[in-house]
Amino acid sequence: MASQTGNQASEPGFLSEAARRIKPSASNAASQRARELSASGRSIVDLTTGEPDFATPAHICEAAIAAMQAGQTRYTTVDGTLQLKQAITRKFLRDNELEYTPQEISVAAGAKQIIFNALLATLNPGDEVVIPLPCWVSYVEMVTFAGGKAVTIAPRPGGFDTLLQEVEKSITPRTKWLMINSPNNPSGVVYTRDQLRALADLLLRHPHVWVLTDDIYEHIVFDGRRFFTLAQVEPRLKARTLTVNGVSKAYSMTGWRIGYAGGPQPLIRAMAKIQSQSTSAPCSISQAAAVAALDGPQDLVHERARIFQHRRDLLLKEFETIPGIRPNAPEGAFYLFLDCAELMGKRTPQGQTLASDQDLVEYFLEHAGVAMVHGTPFGAPGHLRLSFAASEANLTEACRRLRQACSQL
Ligand code: PLP
Repeated sequence: MASQTGNQASEPGFLSEAARRIKPSASNAASQRARELSASGRSIVDLTTGEPDFATPAHICEAAIAAMQAGQTRYTTVDGTLQLKQAITRKFLRDNELEYTPQEISVAAGAKQIIFNALLATLNPGDEVVIPLPCWVSYVEMVTFAGGKAVTIAPRPGGFDTLLQEVEKSITPRTKWLMINSPNNPSGVVYTRDQLRALADLLLRHPHVWVLTDDIYEHIVFDGRRFFTLAQVEPRLKARTLTVNGVSKAYSMTGWRIGYAGGPQPLIRAMAKIQSQSTSAPCSISQAAAVAALDGPQDLVHERARIFQHRRDLLLKEFETIPGIRPNAPEGAFYLFLDCAELMGKRTPQGQTLASDQDLVEYFLEHAGVAMVHGTPFGAPGHLRLSFAASEANLTEACRRLRQACSQL
């Protein structure tokens, strides 16, 4: 019987099984907590955020204003305007040597929605998705929500060769997708052309496996590295690859919510069908802005990557003198992934034992005023993710605080 109080959401069985089987985004939760503590007057250096701290370039904002003034304020084609799809095809050709037609392009409210649509459009209950760890917090949850089974591959010593062996071992007749992400959030690993070539050879032996390649950090690569994407390295895989990208990270446009993908038409059509019954088209004004981003000058993108590299170097130097924490050396993206295994089991000055990476995040937040995300939701317990999408002054201050907090353990 319906509740007399009207509070049905708390009754067992009211919330769907699908809603109950997923967890909220850990990185969103950590950012929200940091914002709440700051709002309450605490001094918090927030290094949780997965978004560039730069402003959206002026020419992109101006394109949005022009679009509004020209009356581009209505619903558009569900999975993107033709103008934007054409700009995306030009981008894929220019940056990735990939030829897509506008019919092979999908646009949604962020790469997040693109991935969500793709999984909803393809997964039947029990279908498997192979995901190397560590990975972005949302992959496993999205697969689970869509009714699939995430088959994760724990990181092991031995580098890429070991990863390839593990991928091959994980593939079963139920495998629908392999999901890869380079530059990787959170590890900063960037796959080389040779590595992708070896992965392609493996995939050619398993023609039923599709590949979702999340290239959202494409432009943020360091030390002169070049970015490659799988369908570029092996054109024979293009017919079963969804190449995912977006304007969020490259052009500091996280709030505009535009992500896109290139892929085979039947998949793109199924994704559009799902979007047509959920959010409809992404914001018309943001789409016009995205055209300006993709077609406009690209030097700023590279200039900003250089700034990220400079911050990475600054942090690596700082961490040489922070006891108990071993940073990775990211090759791309804007995160340090900190190995904190040595700090596990230590006692805080308040008498608490640090039993997990979550305890450590709490300790740094409460006692040092530095906010980060714990590694477990990325599939890497004992780690913390530090975003260096923050000013050098804030990064230096965070390190000072972390050094002090670590020396007290
Ligand atoms: N993919 C990865 C690996 C990410 O880290 C993020 C955002 O943090 C996204 C996708 C989502 O990007 P968008 O803003 O386009 O939804």
